[in-house]
Amino acid sequence: METDKPAEGSKPAAPGTDPAAPDSATTPETPDDSAASAPHPVPSLGDVLLAAEELWPASLAEGWDAVGLVAGRPSRPVERILFAVDPTAEVIDEALEWGADLLLTHHPLFLKPVHSVAGTGFKGDAVHRLIEGGCALLTVHTNGDSAVGGVSDVLADAFGLRDVVPLVPAEDGLPEEGIGRVGDLRDATTLADFAKLVFSIMPAVAGGVRVAGDPHGLVRRVAVCGGAGDSLFDAVRRHQADVYVTADLRHHPASEAREAAVNGRPYLIDVSHFGSEWLWLTPAANALENVLTDQGFAAEIRISGTNTDPWDFVLTPGLN
Ligand SMILES: [Zn+2]
Repeated sequence: METDKPAEGSKPAAPGTDPAAPDSATTPETPDDSAASAPHPVPSLGDVLLAAEELWPASLAEGWDAVGLVAGRPSRPVERILFAVDPTAEVIDEALEWGADLLLTHHPLFLKPVHSVAGTGFKGDAVHRLIEGGCALLTVHTNGDSAVGGVSDVLADAFGLRDVVPLVPAEDGLPEEGIGRVGDLRDATTLADFAKLVFSIMPAVAGGVRVAGDPHGLVRRVAVCGGAGDSLFDAVRRHQADVYVTADLRHHPASEAREAAVNGRPYLIDVSHFGSEWLWLTPAANALENVLTDQGFAAEIRISGTNTDPWDFVLTPGLN
């Protein structure tokens, strides 16, 4: 996995421009040696939508979600695709400055129905800027979570988990599709060492990583859910996980999960929501590039370098 992490303290920083940016998910870097080969055609937005549907079927999205095409005409050519977690103004700046024809984000710009996209608000302004800049917007959210190779699969892989299954299987999907993942580390390790591994994998964000539990306690069975996962505690307990890695753990769900813990487990590791999902972007971009290449298309794909974690700094006891 690439480690072009958004740098802490460099909010508009550009991890996509640092070491791992020129990876296989970005500019195709393997010129075809065959002199006879013709240049690959540029896909239309419609072609890209079909490829995306193959990887992240909209039917896998949760009922409350809003995935799919937000802006753009399917007939338009797509030469450049930017992957990002959030369609913030800064990310849109980045997309337009690069000349992206498509911005693919994990989070929806619009989760609730709207009656206006007037440019008087930041969301309407985003729509206007994208359309005026010739850049489409596509959301791959809980369908990207649930699919094979989804956000939690990427985390499970990064943590080295084995025998991974969904925490909550998809209702109408394959057995390996669903929300969250649970699996086993090859060797039991202490909670402190596992937390250090998690920290080392996450992009640097101001909030760091928070841990609840005995640092010396041993963990082997690990549950993960990229993004906010505090609705999945029942599944985490059902799978008898020793530790649960997720984001946005609020006081009451976390506190009650600790009160209900058996032998202190499941321990909790609370990571950045943005960070947990940012890790998915590169494998997702690689997957899309592979599908497009298999279909004879070529598009330039880049991972956003913008850190859209909303927090900028943190004060902790003993350090201030
Ligand atoms: Zn999320």
